[in-house]
Amino acid sequence: MTSVRCRGRDNIPHYLCKRNIKLMDSTIRDILSKEIFSADDIACLLRSEGAGRTMLFKRSAEVKEKYIGNKVWFRGLIEFSNVCGKDCLYCGIRKGNKNLVRYSLSDDEILEAAKFAYKNRYGSIALQSGELESNAVSGRIESLLRRIRDLSKGELGVTLSVGEQEREVYQKWFDAGAHRYLLRVESSNQELYSKIHPDDPKHSFKRRLECLKSLQDIGYQTGTGVMIGLPFQTINDLAGDLLFMKEFDIDMCGMGPYIEHADTPLIKYAAGLMPLKERFDLTLKMIAIIRIMMKDINIVAATALQAIDPMGREKAIKTGANILMPNITPGKYRDSYKLYDNKPCTDDSAEDCQSCLEARVTLADAQVIYDEWGDSKHYSARRSGLGVK
Ligand code: SAM
Repeated sequence: MTSVRCRGRDNIPHYLCKRNIKLMDSTIRDILSKEIFSADDIACLLRSEGAGRTMLFKRSAEVKEKYIGNKVWFRGLIEFSNVCGKDCLYCGIRKGNKNLVRYSLSDDEILEAAKFAYKNRYGSIALQSGELESNAVSGRIESLLRRIRDLSKGELGVTLSVGEQEREVYQKWFDAGAHRYLLRVESSNQELYSKIHPDDPKHSFKRRLECLKSLQDIGYQTGTGVMIGLPFQTINDLAGDLLFMKEFDIDMCGMGPYIEHADTPLIKYAAGLMPLKERFDLTLKMIAIIRIMMKDINIVAATALQAIDPMGREKAIKTGANILMPNITPGKYRDSYKLYDNKPCTDDSAEDCQSCLEARVTLADAQVIYDEWGDSKHYSARRSGLGVK
């Protein structure tokens, strides 16, 4: 089947091509009947409005129900340090931001948080921090992973999200018990990547891709994702991002809206960004499309969605996400892990966070599954060569 042409203006703030809407309702139906989406098809789905948009969300919900079920798994999120050696131009915890109290949790605080997750039957935790590379850091994480494995008798699943590292370090952590890794590519378009990162070897697009490849080769369930609504980003960039994820054969996806932070260099472009509501809607569409394209992967309902819409994560679950990350970082540190302005839940305790999320999952007509890792089905299918296309 040939791809459907419905190009609007390329720049996201003007993405809606109104004269095409009527045409789009029928073309969206055609696109949704295809097995494989082209870049043009995806761009068209991202521009869908009205009935076309409803069709897209209905289809992604059906795919989720069929391949995943109306289920949600928790990853207790421990943001264990905001110390970062990198200077990403969008990020509130970038090295160059001096208006931030830096913190690192002690080993005991991290282990206590892991115990909380274990006792509350979360199934998994996710350890996230700024990006540091050194023997001391990698040795510490390795020892923590072994202690977490011991305290939970190997029952707690562990996702790491601590950035770019040497392959040997990834291997060491894998051997110590980490089995999932989330490393967002941020944008799969190298040109855009270079506009949102400093131009130096520490922020190399090539290395980001090499790291993702190493993670996959070692045997991690490998996750990536992008920010949506970045300055300079186009609809075609986002279509390319989804094709990149499909081509890379990822097991997990974590993507969310870009939200500006006052103490970052990209703030100077804030006036030209698409409105937050549109970034939110576009993120839901990205989730819906990746769910249809990669039926059995795990998809996170990102916290950043809730910074825009109080029901943001429920909407993501309805649309296709199946993973939630309740924040179990000790409350006194929450305020300092501000990647973007208006980050939600920074005042909640871990207990508040759990009951609030459980209520939210129920609102989304789904069910939290306790005591299970909730691994990516795509991972096991991929490894056995029986992947869902
Ligand atoms: N440093 C690690 C890495 O790069 O994978 C993990 C920590 S990093 C702070 C986690 C993620 O936060 C990034 O991958 C990025 O997508 C997201 N992030 C940072 N600044 C953001 C912003 N202003 N808006 C939305 N997401 C942001």
